[in-house]
Amino acid sequence: MDKSNIQLEKHLAERIKELSCLYKISQASHQFANSAEDIPIEQQLTEIAKIIPEGFQHEENLLVHISVPERGINIGKTFEDDLENLRFQSKVMTLECSYKNPKFSFLKEEYPLVEKIGQELNALLFRKEQKEKDVLLQKKLQREDRLNVLTELTAGIAHELNTPLGNILGYAELLKKAEVDKNKQKDLDKIVSSALQAREIVKKLMYFSCEIPTNFNLVDVQHLLNETLELLQIQLQEKQLTIEKEFNANDCFVYGDAIQLTQVFLNLLINAIQASKVGGKINVNCKGQQDHIEVTFQDFGEGISATNIAKLFQPFFTTKKNGTGLGLAVAHGIITAHKAKIEVQSKPNKGTIFKLIFPTTKAKKK
Ligand code: ADP
Repeated sequence: MDKSNIQLEKHLAERIKELSCLYKISQASHQFANSAEDIPIEQQLTEIAKIIPEGFQHEENLLVHISVPERGINIGKTFEDDLENLRFQSKVMTLECSYKNPKFSFLKEEYPLVEKIGQELNALLFRKEQKEKDVLLQKKLQREDRLNVLTELTAGIAHELNTPLGNILGYAELLKKAEVDKNKQKDLDKIVSSALQAREIVKKLMYFSCEIPTNFNLVDVQHLLNETLELLQIQLQEKQLTIEKEFNANDCFVYGDAIQLTQVFLNLLINAIQASKVGGKINVNCKGQQDHIEVTFQDFGEGISATNIAKLFQPFFTTKKNGTGLGLAVAHGIITAHKAKIEVQSKPNKGTIFKLIFPTTKAKKK
């Protein structure tokens, strides 16, 4: 065989290696995408990093480094600066290839090979991100669906309980008036106080299901937040907590029920106080944006696990020894009645942020 034929054969062998490598990588990423189990992205990238050298002329000498900074992923070692280095970089990841031995250099066809592999890895990361977003969205929809059903059920139950509870209270009061026996009077007092307690719970359930009448007016949110914080001075001092306020100068008026909104702020702040460590800090922010007003309460306390976040707004969900599990259910009901939104972000042992998003009102205080 003459020299040019040998060259051609070598050349073809290299192209076949490159194409087989790309084919193997795309098959692997296809398998990951269609796998029934959720393979961690780091494992997927590690598997592909093992295939990459097969496409290069000196495969046993090739070093591969993949990094995805946002996810804290680093596969393979970084190289010495003086080594020849082929690199693909996107917004989310970097792929670098280099030879251990500086005497080897890359073929010109290996430049586009790195580019193609990089694009494949990028697509893999994109698909993973989409999948994660879909899962989150599905969870959110399920949660909202469950909460909607619960709201309807609760509204019905609260209504049904209200009348008999009113009767119990009324008749117990009547009997108490006519009763002279002190012991029997004490028993009747217990009936009255238990019925009152039950009525309080029913009232909270009605808040949750937006069944309480509202008295809407123009409300200055920043002023209301200051008033609420005043009410909590003792609890804040007891735990030596500092409040860091950040209110922007814009007018923060919403159309709402001041008493009910105070109830929401109180519930969120009390939870933040209870979750905080002694001597900690709570951030209270109020920012007026063009079309909405954001109020956030951030603590740096115990945080909430992912499983508990899913149940947070359900009535009677509590992790506290003496909790009622109604504070957030009430807050959710009031916020919904104000056509506003309540969102939560939390990390166990790092803290929690509750965000309220109100629509702005066009009306202005005179
Ligand atoms: P309660 O305070 O009576 O338990 P809530 O409805 O106000 O009722 O809260 C429900 C649960 O949500 C709490 O028991 C707690 O586990 C969790 N939670 C609420 N806010 C926070 C917070 N800021 N930090 C940690 N956990 C919280």
